Amino acid sequence: MPTCQEVAEQATEYLEKAMPRRERLGVWAHLRVCPNCRTYLRQFMGTIALTRRAAAAAPPPDDEDRLVAAMKAARTPGAD
Ligand SMILES: [Zn+2]
Repeated sequence: MPTCQEVAEQATEYLEKAMPRRERLGVWAHLRVCPNCRTYLRQFMGTIALTRRAAAAAPPPDDEDRLVAAMKAARTPGAD
């Protein structure tokens, strides 16, 4: 069974199912008996969800600049 340190290091792979079945089972078994790692993984998943939601809600600064520039360029004089 992996240690807490190993579970923390493999959290992404575990959640994305990007690890061998044997190792997944090890992490899973560890989570069954370790409330600390369950809490850690729940928070970790929450962080991922928040990041994805934020990324979907607002475009990255670079894209926003480009969008504003494009809108300014597209505006014809006297359109207001
Ligand atoms: Zn643990």
